[in-house]
Amino acid sequence: MIETLPIMDRKQFIKFIGLLPLASTAMKLNELNKMTAPFNNTEQMPVLFLGHGNPMNAIEENEFVTGFRNIGKTIPKPNAILCISAHWETRGTFVTAMEKPRTIHDFGGFPQTLFDVQYPAPGSPELASETKNMVHKTDIGLDEKWGLDHGAWSVIKHLYPMADVPVIQMSLDYNQGAEYHYQLAKELASLRKKGVLIIGSGNMVHNLGMIAWNKLNADSYGYDWAIEASEKMKKFILVNDHKQLINYKSQGKAFDLAIPTPEHYLPLLYALALKEENETVSLFNDKPVAGSLTMTSLKIDKE
Ligand code: ZN
Repeated sequence: MIETLPIMDRKQFIKFIGLLPLASTAMKLNELNKMTAPFNNTEQMPVLFLGHGNPMNAIEENEFVTGFRNIGKTIPKPNAILCISAHWETRGTFVTAMEKPRTIHDFGGFPQTLFDVQYPAPGSPELASETKNMVHKTDIGLDEKWGLDHGAWSVIKHLYPMADVPVIQMSLDYNQGAEYHYQLAKELASLRKKGVLIIGSGNMVHNLGMIAWNKLNADSYGYDWAIEASEKMKKFILVNDHKQLINYKSQGKAFDLAIPTPEHYLPLLYALALKEENETVSLFNDKPVAGSLTMTSLKIDKE
């Protein structure tokens, strides 16, 4: 059986060539190369920021999961995903470059069913090296050890439950400030025209130290400061005032409480940096939970 496979492939190849419009053989081969290249040119892909919240969202049925599923249905199926997750901070910037990223269960104190989840999406060494080559702001390292942390798989699994879209992650350099991350993200723009869906995964308001444990199961609950910060952030987002969002440290007490550490906020700046003038932002899953978190997510796309 195995020995006959190459013959089958050749037959299929010849059949395929025959189906192409009349042109020289060289032209046909050129076309074929373009069609089978991993990152051929496409319509510009949207960009997402996903509020991932509680890791249990990976296995629960709730309105946020429905929101992730619904947004997935509005997007052309990507050639690959590049995810900037709050949960991968490094010194310098890295992209995962392995063929088969492992599913990382980077949390504690959750039920075994959550630890049993596997999300076996393939990696994409091609996209990793393409990303490395296109970024000039820093020398991106190719990582073989990480994989997919829950910031990536707990949400991407709802968009692509079959795990049939290759996923790479890009790390957050913890030595760099917001402006640096925003400018770095801009260098990723051309990936959008190669069918790559860029996803920032974090939470706009995220203060685990102040979680209202008695409100964990409430439909929606936010402290006054969380709602104030969230409303201000959304206003800046919707009027394209990214400068104020980059200067988040100068926005007062509500922002200080909403962003005690930057890792869940910075993925938002990656997404916003990729917004072009003719594009709009639509919000979804826009709710505060457990007092000190917001699930607010957004899609950037042409009108
Ligand atoms: Zn998180």
